[in-house]
Amino acid sequence: MAQRFDAIVIGTGQSGPPLAVRLGQSGRKTAVIERAAFGGTCVNVGCTPTKAYVACARAAHVARHAADFGVRIGGGELASGVPAGNVHVDLAFVKARKERIVGASRDGVERWLREAPNVTVFKGHARFSGAHAVRVSTHDGAQADLEAPEIFINTGTRAQIPAIPGLETIRYETNSTLLALEQLPEHLAICGASYVALEFAQMFRRFGSRVTVLVRGQRILSREDEDFSHAVQDLLAREGVAFRFGAQPRSVAPLEGDAGVRIALDSGPLDASHLLFATGRVPNTDDLGLDAAGIETDTHGLIAVDGQLRTAVEGIWALGDVNGRGAFTHSSYDDFQIVAANLLDGKARSADTRIPAYAVYVDPPLARVGLSEREVRERGKPALIATMPMSRVGRARERGETGGFMKAMVDPQTQRILGAAIFGIEGDEAIHTFIDTMTAGAPYTTLQYAMHVHPTVSELVPTLLDGLKPLA
Ligand SMILES: Cc1cc2nc3c(=O)[nH]c(=O)nc-3n(C[C@H](O)[C@H](O)[C@H](O)COP(=O)(O)OP(=O)(O)OC[C@H]3O[C@@H](n4cnc5c(N)ncnc54)[C@H](O)[C@@H]3O)c2cc1C
Repeated sequence: MAQRFDAIVIGTGQSGPPLAVRLGQSGRKTAVIERAAFGGTCVNVGCTPTKAYVACARAAHVARHAADFGVRIGGGELASGVPAGNVHVDLAFVKARKERIVGASRDGVERWLREAPNVTVFKGHARFSGAHAVRVSTHDGAQADLEAPEIFINTGTRAQIPAIPGLETIRYETNSTLLALEQLPEHLAICGASYVALEFAQMFRRFGSRVTVLVRGQRILSREDEDFSHAVQDLLAREGVAFRFGAQPRSVAPLEGDAGVRIALDSGPLDASHLLFATGRVPNTDDLGLDAAGIETDTHGLIAVDGQLRTAVEGIWALGDVNGRGAFTHSSYDDFQIVAANLLDGKARSADTRIPAYAVYVDPPLARVGLSEREVRERGKPALIATMPMSRVGRARERGETGGFMKAMVDPQTQRILGAAIFGIEGDEAIHTFIDTMTAGAPYTTLQYAMHVHPTVSELVPTLLDGLKPLA
Protein backbone atom coordinates (compact mmCIF):
# COMPACT_ATOMS: atom_id res chain seq x y z
CA MET A 1 0.00 0.00 0.00
CA ALA A 2 1.42 3.38 -0.99
CA GLN A 3 1.60 6.09 1.63
CA ARG A 4 -0.24 9.17 0.43
CA PHE A 5 1.26 12.64 0.77
CA ASP A 6 0.38 16.04 -0.67
CA ALA A 7 3.98 16.70 -1.68
CA ILE A 8 7.24 14.76 -2.04
CA VAL A 9 10.67 16.43 -2.07
CA ILE A 10 13.52 14.27 -3.41
CA GLY A 11 16.97 15.36 -2.22
CA THR A 12 18.03 17.77 0.50
CA GLY A 13 20.29 20.09 -1.45
CA GLN A 14 19.91 23.84 -1.20
CA SER A 15 16.27 24.08 -2.30
CA GLY A 16 14.74 20.85 -0.99
CA PRO A 17 14.87 21.53 2.78
CA PRO A 18 13.48 25.11 2.82
CA LEU A 19 10.82 24.05 0.33
CA ALA A 20 9.80 20.99 2.38
CA VAL A 21 9.48 23.18 5.47
CA ARG A 22 7.40 25.80 3.62
CA LEU A 23 5.20 23.07 2.11
CA GLY A 24 4.66 21.59 5.57
CA GLN A 25 3.86 25.02 7.00
CA SER A 26 1.29 25.52 4.23
CA GLY A 27 -0.57 22.48 5.62
CA ARG A 28 0.62 20.03 2.97
CA LYS A 29 1.51 16.58 4.25
CA THR A 30 5.08 16.45 2.92
CA ALA A 31 7.63 13.65 2.51
CA VAL A 32 11.30 14.52 2.08
CA ILE A 33 13.78 11.87 0.94
CA GLU A 34 17.59 11.92 1.31
CA ARG A 35 19.84 9.02 0.36
CA ALA A 36 23.12 10.31 1.78
CA ALA A 37 24.09 13.35 3.87
CA PHE A 38 21.52 16.01 4.76
CA GLY A 39 22.36 19.36 3.19
CA GLY A 40 23.74 17.83 -0.02
CA THR A 41 26.84 18.94 -1.88
CA CYS A 42 27.21 22.48 -0.56
CA VAL A 43 27.11 21.56 3.09
CA ASN A 44 29.06 18.29 2.96
CA VAL A 45 31.52 18.24 0.07
CA GLY A 46 31.16 21.61 -1.68
CA CYS A 47 31.00 25.21 -0.52
CA THR A 48 31.21 24.83 3.26
CA PRO A 49 34.17 22.43 3.54
CA THR A 50 36.12 24.06 0.73
CA LYS A 51 35.66 27.53 2.14
CA ALA A 52 36.72 26.23 5.55
CA TYR A 53 39.88 24.90 3.84
CA VAL A 54 40.38 28.19 1.97
CA ALA A 55 40.38 29.93 5.37
CA CYS A 56 43.06 27.55 6.72
CA ALA A 57 45.13 27.98 3.55
CA ARG A 58 44.86 31.74 3.90
CA ALA A 59 46.03 31.55 7.50
CA ALA A 60 49.13 29.65 6.32
CA HIS A 61 49.69 32.18 3.54
CA VAL A 62 49.39 35.15 5.88
CA ALA A 63 51.69 33.48 8.41
CA ARG A 64 54.34 32.93 5.72
CA HIS A 65 54.15 36.58 4.74
CA ALA A 66 53.87 37.94 8.26
CA ALA A 67 57.32 39.52 8.01
CA ASP A 68 55.95 41.85 5.29
CA PHE A 69 53.84 43.38 8.05
CA GLY A 70 56.61 43.54 10.62
CA VAL A 71 55.37 40.43 12.39
CA ARG A 72 58.20 38.00 13.24
CA ILE A 73 57.11 34.41 13.75
CA GLY A 74 60.29 32.38 13.41
CA GLY A 75 63.08 31.77 10.96
CA GLY A 76 63.28 30.21 7.54
CA GLU A 77 63.39 31.67 4.08
CA LEU A 78 61.91 30.46 0.80
CA ALA A 79 64.29 29.93 -2.14
CA SER A 80 62.96 33.20 -3.59
CA GLY A 81 64.17 35.06 -0.51
CA VAL A 82 60.64 35.57 0.76
CA PRO A 83 60.49 35.12 4.55
CA ALA A 84 58.76 31.82 5.15
CA GLY A 85 58.36 31.53 8.89
CA ASN A 86 58.12 28.08 10.36
CA VAL A 87 54.75 27.34 8.84
CA HIS A 88 53.53 23.78 8.89
CA VAL A 89 49.95 22.81 8.05
CA ASP A 90 48.41 19.95 10.02
CA LEU A 91 45.92 18.52 7.53
CA ALA A 92 44.33 16.22 10.10
CA PHE A 93 43.53 19.29 12.22
CA VAL A 94 42.30 21.22 9.17
CA LYS A 95 40.01 18.31 8.36
CA ALA A 96 38.75 17.99 11.94
CA ARG A 97 37.98 21.73 12.03
CA LYS A 98 36.08 21.36 8.76
CA GLU A 99 34.17 18.33 10.09
CA ARG A 100 32.96 20.38 13.05
CA ILE A 101 31.66 23.17 10.81
CA VAL A 102 30.12 20.76 8.30
CA GLY A 103 28.68 18.48 11.00
CA ALA A 104 26.90 21.37 12.70
CA SER A 105 25.27 22.42 9.41
CA ARG A 106 24.37 18.87 8.37
CA ASP A 107 22.81 18.07 11.75
CA GLY A 108 21.02 21.41 11.70
CA VAL A 109 19.38 20.62 8.35
CA GLU A 110 18.28 17.17 9.53
CA ARG A 111 16.91 18.50 12.83
CA TRP A 112 15.11 21.33 11.03
CA LEU A 113 13.36 18.85 8.72
CA ARG A 114 12.52 16.32 11.43
CA GLU A 115 11.01 19.02 13.65
CA ALA A 116 9.08 20.78 10.85
CA PRO A 117 5.30 20.48 11.05
CA ASN A 118 3.69 18.07 8.55
CA VAL A 119 7.09 16.89 7.28
CA THR A 120 8.11 13.20 7.30
CA VAL A 121 11.75 12.35 6.61
CA PHE A 122 12.69 9.21 4.66
CA LYS A 123 16.30 8.07 4.55
CA GLY A 124 16.99 6.18 1.33
CA HIS A 125 17.27 6.27 -2.44
CA ALA A 126 14.20 7.56 -4.29
CA ARG A 127 13.10 6.34 -7.71
CA PHE A 128 9.98 7.25 -9.63
CA SER A 129 7.63 4.32 -10.19
CA GLY A 130 5.03 6.52 -11.93
CA ALA A 131 4.41 10.21 -12.61
CA HIS A 132 3.21 10.72 -9.05
CA ALA A 133 4.64 7.68 -7.34
CA VAL A 134 8.08 7.21 -5.77
CA ARG A 135 9.71 4.15 -4.26
CA VAL A 136 12.23 4.71 -1.45
CA SER A 137 14.85 1.98 -0.91
CA THR A 138 16.55 2.25 2.44
CA HIS A 139 20.08 1.06 3.20
CA ASP A 140 18.76 -1.89 5.22
CA GLY A 141 16.92 -3.21 2.17
CA ALA A 142 13.44 -2.01 3.16
CA GLN A 143 11.17 -0.22 0.71
CA ALA A 144 8.44 2.38 1.01
CA ASP A 145 6.04 3.42 -1.73
CA LEU A 146 4.90 7.03 -1.65
CA GLU A 147 2.40 8.93 -3.77
CA ALA A 148 1.73 12.66 -4.10
CA PRO A 149 0.23 15.04 -6.67
CA GLU A 150 3.20 17.42 -6.28
CA ILE A 151 6.81 16.20 -6.56
CA PHE A 152 9.96 18.32 -6.35
CA ILE A 153 13.32 17.03 -7.58
CA ASN A 154 16.43 18.48 -5.90
CA THR A 155 18.94 15.70 -6.43
CA GLY A 156 22.00 17.76 -7.43
CA THR A 157 25.18 16.51 -9.06
CA ARG A 158 28.25 14.38 -8.48
CA ALA A 159 31.83 14.61 -9.77
CA GLN A 160 32.31 13.68 -13.40
CA ILE A 161 35.14 11.24 -14.00
CA PRO A 162 36.56 11.24 -17.54
CA ALA A 163 37.01 7.88 -19.26
CA ILE A 164 40.79 7.47 -19.39
CA PRO A 165 42.54 4.18 -20.16
CA GLY A 166 44.01 2.71 -16.96
CA LEU A 167 41.60 4.49 -14.63
CA GLU A 168 40.59 1.25 -12.95
CA THR A 169 44.23 0.58 -11.99
CA ILE A 170 44.81 3.75 -9.96
CA ARG A 171 43.47 5.57 -6.94
CA TYR A 172 42.14 9.01 -7.83
CA GLU A 173 40.49 11.81 -5.89
CA THR A 174 37.27 13.77 -6.26
CA ASN A 175 36.17 16.82 -4.31
CA SER A 176 34.72 14.41 -1.73
CA THR A 177 37.73 12.14 -1.22
CA LEU A 178 40.32 14.94 -1.29
CA LEU A 179 38.51 16.53 1.64
CA ALA A 180 38.88 13.27 3.58
CA LEU A 181 42.72 13.14 3.40
CA GLU A 182 44.63 13.55 6.65
CA GLN A 183 48.10 13.60 5.14
CA LEU A 184 49.23 16.25 2.75
CA PRO A 185 49.77 15.05 -0.83
CA GLU A 186 53.40 15.41 -1.80
CA HIS A 187 52.43 16.29 -5.40
CA LEU A 188 48.78 16.91 -6.33
CA ALA A 189 47.97 16.83 -10.04
CA ILE A 190 44.61 18.37 -10.87
CA CYS A 191 42.76 17.56 -14.03
CA GLY A 192 40.54 20.58 -14.79
CA ALA A 193 40.95 24.35 -14.73
CA SER A 194 37.61 25.73 -13.64
CA TYR A 195 36.64 27.05 -10.24
CA VAL A 196 36.66 23.81 -8.23
CA ALA A 197 40.07 22.85 -9.67
CA LEU A 198 41.64 26.23 -8.99
CA GLU A 199 40.29 26.55 -5.46
CA PHE A 200 41.83 23.18 -4.59
CA ALA A 201 45.05 24.07 -6.45
CA GLN A 202 45.68 27.21 -4.43
CA MET A 203 44.65 25.79 -1.06
CA PHE A 204 46.82 22.66 -1.35
CA ARG A 205 49.74 24.73 -2.61
CA ARG A 206 49.34 26.98 0.43
CA PHE A 207 49.11 23.89 2.65
CA GLY A 208 52.53 22.90 1.29
CA SER A 209 51.90 20.41 -1.54
CA ARG A 210 53.45 20.65 -4.98
CA VAL A 211 50.52 21.29 -7.33
CA THR A 212 50.27 20.88 -11.10
CA VAL A 213 47.11 21.90 -12.95
CA LEU A 214 46.43 20.06 -16.20
CA VAL A 215 44.57 22.45 -18.49
CA ARG A 216 42.85 20.91 -21.51
CA GLY A 217 42.92 24.15 -23.54
CA GLN A 218 45.30 27.07 -23.61
CA ARG A 219 43.93 28.99 -20.64
CA ILE A 220 42.31 28.47 -17.28
CA LEU A 221 38.75 29.64 -16.48
CA SER A 222 37.84 29.45 -20.17
CA ARG A 223 34.39 30.96 -19.55
CA GLU A 224 35.90 34.16 -18.14
CA ASP A 225 37.36 37.07 -20.09
CA GLU A 226 40.98 36.41 -21.06
CA ASP A 227 42.32 39.24 -18.90
CA PHE A 228 40.78 37.64 -15.80
CA SER A 229 42.04 34.16 -16.78
CA HIS A 230 45.56 35.50 -17.13
CA ALA A 231 45.42 37.51 -13.91
CA VAL A 232 44.26 34.47 -11.89
CA GLN A 233 46.90 32.29 -13.55
CA ASP A 234 49.63 34.83 -12.72
CA LEU A 235 48.50 34.93 -9.11
CA LEU A 236 48.55 31.14 -8.74
CA ALA A 237 51.84 30.79 -10.64
CA ARG A 238 53.45 33.35 -8.31
CA GLU A 239 52.41 31.15 -5.40
CA GLY A 240 54.08 28.18 -7.05
CA VAL A 241 51.19 26.37 -8.78
CA ALA A 242 52.48 24.80 -12.02
CA PHE A 243 50.34 24.67 -15.18
CA ARG A 244 50.50 22.38 -18.18
CA PHE A 245 48.40 23.58 -21.10
CA GLY A 246 46.95 21.45 -23.88
CA ALA A 247 47.26 18.67 -21.30
CA GLN A 248 44.67 15.97 -21.81
CA PRO A 249 45.54 12.72 -19.99
CA ARG A 250 45.90 9.94 -22.57
CA SER A 251 46.25 7.17 -19.99
CA VAL A 252 47.05 6.67 -16.32
CA ALA A 253 48.98 3.95 -14.50
CA PRO A 254 50.04 3.33 -10.89
CA LEU A 255 53.59 4.20 -9.86
CA GLU A 256 55.70 1.45 -8.35
CA GLY A 257 55.18 0.84 -4.64
CA ASP A 258 51.80 2.54 -4.59
CA ALA A 259 53.66 5.86 -4.76
CA GLY A 260 51.04 7.56 -6.88
CA VAL A 261 50.11 7.81 -10.51
CA ARG A 262 51.84 8.36 -13.85
CA ILE A 263 49.75 10.47 -16.21
CA ALA A 264 50.57 10.17 -19.90
CA LEU A 265 50.27 13.53 -21.65
CA ASP A 266 51.14 14.50 -25.23
CA SER A 267 53.92 16.69 -23.84
CA GLY A 268 55.39 13.81 -21.80
CA PRO A 269 54.45 11.93 -18.62
CA LEU A 270 53.72 13.54 -15.25
CA ASP A 271 54.19 11.64 -11.99
CA ALA A 272 52.11 12.72 -9.02
CA SER A 273 51.36 11.29 -5.60
CA HIS A 274 47.65 12.18 -6.03
CA LEU A 275 45.38 12.91 -8.98
CA LEU A 276 42.22 14.99 -8.53
CA PHE A 277 39.48 15.07 -11.14
CA ALA A 278 37.72 18.43 -11.17
CA THR A 279 36.40 18.16 -14.69
CA GLY A 280 32.76 19.00 -14.21
CA ARG A 281 29.64 17.58 -12.61
CA VAL A 282 27.05 14.97 -13.65
CA PRO A 283 23.39 15.49 -12.65
CA ASN A 284 21.96 12.81 -10.35
CA THR A 285 19.15 12.06 -12.77
CA ASP A 286 20.31 8.76 -14.27
CA ASP A 287 19.19 6.67 -11.30
CA LEU A 288 15.91 8.45 -10.55
CA GLY A 289 13.64 6.35 -12.76
CA LEU A 290 12.63 9.45 -14.71
CA ASP A 291 11.30 7.27 -17.55
CA ALA A 292 8.55 5.99 -15.27
CA ALA A 293 7.49 9.59 -14.67
CA GLY A 294 7.67 10.51 -18.35
CA ILE A 295 10.39 13.11 -17.74
CA GLU A 296 13.11 13.50 -20.34
CA THR A 297 16.64 14.79 -19.85
CA ASP A 298 19.00 16.43 -22.33
CA THR A 299 22.30 14.86 -23.41
CA HIS A 300 23.95 16.13 -20.20
CA GLY A 301 21.25 14.57 -18.01
CA LEU A 302 19.66 17.93 -17.16
CA ILE A 303 15.89 18.28 -16.74
CA ALA A 304 14.25 21.04 -18.81
CA VAL A 305 12.04 23.42 -16.83
CA ASP A 306 10.14 26.65 -17.50
CA GLY A 307 10.68 29.92 -15.66
CA GLN A 308 8.65 28.62 -12.71
CA LEU A 309 10.85 25.48 -12.69
CA ARG A 310 8.01 23.20 -13.79
CA THR A 311 8.99 20.16 -15.84
CA ALA A 312 7.00 19.03 -18.87
CA VAL A 313 5.01 16.70 -16.55
CA GLU A 314 2.16 18.34 -14.64
CA GLY A 315 2.86 18.46 -10.90
CA ILE A 316 6.63 17.82 -11.09
CA TRP A 317 9.25 20.53 -10.55
CA ALA A 318 13.06 20.35 -10.81
CA LEU A 319 15.17 22.66 -8.65
CA GLY A 320 18.89 23.29 -8.22
CA ASP A 321 21.76 22.02 -10.33
CA VAL A 322 19.64 19.35 -12.09
CA ASN A 323 17.67 21.94 -14.07
CA GLY A 324 20.79 23.49 -15.65
CA ARG A 325 19.71 27.04 -14.82
CA GLY A 326 22.55 27.65 -12.40
CA ALA A 327 24.98 25.41 -10.57
CA PHE A 328 25.42 27.32 -7.35
CA THR A 329 24.05 27.28 -3.86
CA HIS A 330 22.49 30.68 -4.35
CA SER A 331 20.82 29.68 -7.65
CA SER A 332 19.42 26.54 -6.01
CA TYR A 333 18.11 28.57 -3.06
CA ASP A 334 16.66 31.11 -5.48
CA ASP A 335 14.88 28.20 -7.20
CA PHE A 336 13.22 27.41 -3.86
CA GLN A 337 12.13 31.03 -3.52
CA ILE A 338 10.70 31.05 -7.05
CA VAL A 339 8.68 27.86 -6.50
CA ALA A 340 7.48 29.02 -3.07
CA ALA A 341 6.46 32.43 -4.42
CA ASN A 342 4.43 30.98 -7.30
CA LEU A 343 2.95 27.99 -5.53
CA LEU A 344 2.47 29.17 -1.96
CA ASP A 345 2.51 32.96 -1.91
CA GLY A 346 0.48 33.84 -5.01
CA LYS A 347 3.37 35.92 -6.32
CA ALA A 348 4.78 35.71 -9.82
CA ARG A 349 8.51 35.05 -9.88
CA SER A 350 10.54 33.57 -12.70
CA ALA A 351 14.04 32.23 -13.20
CA ASP A 352 13.94 33.82 -16.66
CA THR A 353 14.75 37.26 -15.24
CA ARG A 354 17.47 36.09 -12.86
CA ILE A 355 20.83 37.82 -13.29
CA PRO A 356 23.66 35.28 -13.13
CA ALA A 357 26.24 35.96 -10.41
CA TYR A 358 28.97 33.94 -8.72
CA ALA A 359 32.44 33.98 -7.25
CA VAL A 360 35.50 31.84 -7.81
CA TYR A 361 37.04 31.37 -4.37
CA VAL A 362 40.68 31.65 -5.14
CA ASP A 363 42.20 34.19 -2.77
CA PRO A 364 41.57 36.99 -3.58
CA PRO A 365 38.26 35.96 -5.12
CA LEU A 366 37.01 36.64 -8.63
CA ALA A 367 33.35 37.65 -8.54
CA ARG A 368 31.14 38.32 -11.51
CA VAL A 369 27.58 39.39 -12.32
CA GLY A 370 25.73 39.66 -15.63
CA LEU A 371 27.56 39.65 -18.93
CA SER A 372 31.29 39.27 -19.45
CA GLU A 373 33.12 41.62 -21.79
CA ARG A 374 33.16 38.86 -24.41
CA GLU A 375 29.39 38.47 -24.14
CA VAL A 376 28.90 42.24 -24.36
CA ARG A 377 31.01 42.31 -27.53
CA GLU A 378 29.01 39.40 -28.98
CA ARG A 379 25.82 41.46 -28.60
CA GLY A 380 27.24 43.74 -31.28
CA LYS A 381 25.65 46.82 -29.72
CA PRO A 382 27.34 49.98 -28.41
CA ALA A 383 28.59 49.66 -24.84
CA LEU A 384 30.71 51.56 -22.35
CA ILE A 385 33.50 49.87 -20.40
CA ALA A 386 35.70 50.79 -17.46
CA THR A 387 38.52 48.92 -15.78
CA MET A 388 40.57 49.83 -12.73
CA PRO A 389 43.47 48.05 -11.01
CA MET A 390 42.99 47.05 -7.37
CA SER A 391 46.19 49.00 -6.62
CA ARG A 392 44.01 52.14 -6.68
CA VAL A 393 41.87 50.78 -3.84
CA GLY A 394 43.04 52.14 -0.47
CA ARG A 395 41.77 49.07 1.39
CA ALA A 396 43.88 46.84 -0.89
CA ARG A 397 47.00 48.95 -0.36
CA GLU A 398 46.53 48.99 3.40
CA ARG A 399 46.17 45.23 3.41
CA GLY A 400 49.20 44.81 1.15
CA GLU A 401 47.11 42.88 -1.40
CA THR A 402 46.86 44.99 -4.51
CA GLY A 403 46.60 42.20 -7.10
CA GLY A 404 43.68 42.10 -9.52
CA PHE A 405 41.32 44.57 -11.15
CA MET A 406 37.65 45.55 -11.58
CA LYS A 407 35.65 45.87 -14.76
CA ALA A 408 32.16 47.15 -15.55
CA MET A 409 30.14 47.43 -18.75
CA VAL A 410 27.16 49.73 -19.30
CA ASP A 411 24.53 50.20 -22.00
CA PRO A 412 24.93 53.86 -23.08
CA GLN A 413 21.29 54.20 -24.09
CA THR A 414 19.54 52.79 -21.05
CA GLN A 415 22.42 53.53 -18.63
CA ARG A 416 21.84 50.04 -17.22
CA ILE A 417 24.80 47.99 -16.05
CA LEU A 418 25.34 45.03 -18.38
CA GLY A 419 27.91 43.21 -16.29
CA ALA A 420 30.74 43.63 -13.83
CA ALA A 421 33.56 41.62 -12.34
CA ILE A 422 36.00 42.16 -9.51
CA PHE A 423 39.15 40.12 -9.06
CA GLY A 424 40.61 41.37 -5.84
CA ILE A 425 40.24 41.40 -2.09
CA GLU A 426 36.63 41.33 -0.95
CA GLY A 427 35.47 41.20 -4.55
CA ASP A 428 32.84 38.64 -3.52
CA GLU A 429 31.26 41.25 -1.21
CA ALA A 430 31.81 44.38 -3.31
CA ILE A 431 30.17 42.75 -6.36
CA HIS A 432 26.85 43.10 -4.53
CA THR A 433 26.86 46.84 -5.22
CA PHE A 434 26.43 45.82 -8.86
CA ILE A 435 24.10 42.87 -8.21
CA ASP A 436 21.65 45.01 -6.23
CA THR A 437 21.75 47.94 -8.66
CA MET A 438 21.17 45.61 -11.61
CA THR A 439 18.35 43.78 -9.80
CA ALA A 440 16.69 47.10 -9.02
CA GLY A 441 16.94 47.97 -12.73
CA ALA A 442 18.55 51.26 -11.71
CA PRO A 443 20.97 53.21 -13.92
CA TYR A 444 24.70 53.04 -13.17
CA THR A 445 24.55 56.68 -12.05
CA THR A 446 22.77 55.46 -8.89
CA LEU A 447 26.06 53.93 -7.86
CA GLN A 448 27.98 57.07 -8.76
CA TYR A 449 25.76 59.20 -6.52
CA ALA A 450 25.76 56.77 -3.58
CA MET A 451 27.97 57.67 -0.63
CA HIS A 452 29.99 54.53 0.15
CA VAL A 453 31.85 53.84 3.37
CA HIS A 454 35.58 54.51 3.59
CA PRO A 455 37.89 52.60 3.43
CA THR A 456 36.24 49.78 1.50
CA VAL A 457 36.54 48.17 -1.92
CA SER A 458 32.99 49.33 -2.76
CA GLU A 459 33.92 52.99 -2.29
CA LEU A 460 35.99 52.77 -5.49
CA VAL A 461 33.08 51.51 -7.60
CA PRO A 462 31.86 55.08 -8.36
CA THR A 463 35.43 55.99 -9.35
CA LEU A 464 35.54 52.93 -11.62
CA LEU A 465 32.33 54.10 -13.30
CA ASP A 466 33.74 57.64 -13.74
CA GLY A 467 36.17 56.02 -16.17
CA LEU A 468 33.53 54.56 -18.52
CA LYS A 469 34.42 54.96 -22.18
CA PRO A 470 33.12 53.44 -25.44
CA LEU A 471 34.02 49.78 -25.91
CA ALA A 472 36.49 49.81 -28.82
C1 LIG B 1 33.95 21.47 -4.44
C2 LIG B 1 32.73 22.33 -4.66
C3 LIG B 1 32.72 23.63 -4.20
C4 LIG B 1 31.60 24.43 -4.39
N1 LIG B 1 31.65 25.72 -3.95
C5 LIG B 1 30.58 26.53 -4.15
C6 LIG B 1 30.58 27.87 -3.68
O1 LIG B 1 31.55 28.35 -3.09
N2 LIG B 1 29.47 28.63 -3.89
C7 LIG B 1 28.37 28.13 -4.54
O2 LIG B 1 27.40 28.86 -4.70
N3 LIG B 1 28.35 26.87 -5.01
C8 LIG B 1 29.41 26.04 -4.82
N4 LIG B 1 29.36 24.75 -5.27
C9 LIG B 1 28.13 24.26 -5.95
C10 LIG B 1 27.07 23.92 -4.90
O3 LIG B 1 27.57 22.98 -3.98
C11 LIG B 1 25.78 23.38 -5.54
O4 LIG B 1 25.43 24.21 -6.61
C12 LIG B 1 24.69 23.38 -4.48
O5 LIG B 1 24.97 22.39 -3.52
C13 LIG B 1 23.28 23.19 -5.03
O6 LIG B 1 23.02 21.86 -5.26
P1 LIG B 1 21.56 21.28 -5.33
O7 LIG B 1 20.65 22.03 -4.43
O8 LIG B 1 21.18 21.18 -6.74
O9 LIG B 1 21.74 19.78 -4.77
P2 LIG B 1 22.89 19.10 -3.93
O10 LIG B 1 23.45 20.04 -2.93
O11 LIG B 1 23.84 18.44 -4.86
O12 LIG B 1 22.08 18.01 -3.10
C14 LIG B 1 21.37 16.98 -3.72
C15 LIG B 1 20.98 15.95 -2.67
O13 LIG B 1 20.11 15.00 -3.26
C16 LIG B 1 20.45 13.71 -2.77
N5 LIG B 1 19.99 12.73 -3.76
C17 LIG B 1 20.44 12.57 -5.03
N6 LIG B 1 19.75 11.60 -5.65
C18 LIG B 1 18.86 11.13 -4.75
C19 LIG B 1 17.87 10.10 -4.80
N7 LIG B 1 17.64 9.41 -5.93
N8 LIG B 1 17.16 9.85 -3.69
C20 LIG B 1 17.35 10.57 -2.54
N9 LIG B 1 18.28 11.55 -2.45
C21 LIG B 1 19.01 11.83 -3.54
C22 LIG B 1 21.95 13.77 -2.62
O14 LIG B 1 22.41 12.78 -1.71
C23 LIG B 1 22.16 15.18 -2.11
O15 LIG B 1 22.12 15.22 -0.70
C24 LIG B 1 30.46 23.91 -5.07
C25 LIG B 1 30.45 22.59 -5.51
C26 LIG B 1 31.58 21.80 -5.32
C27 LIG B 1 31.56 20.38 -5.82
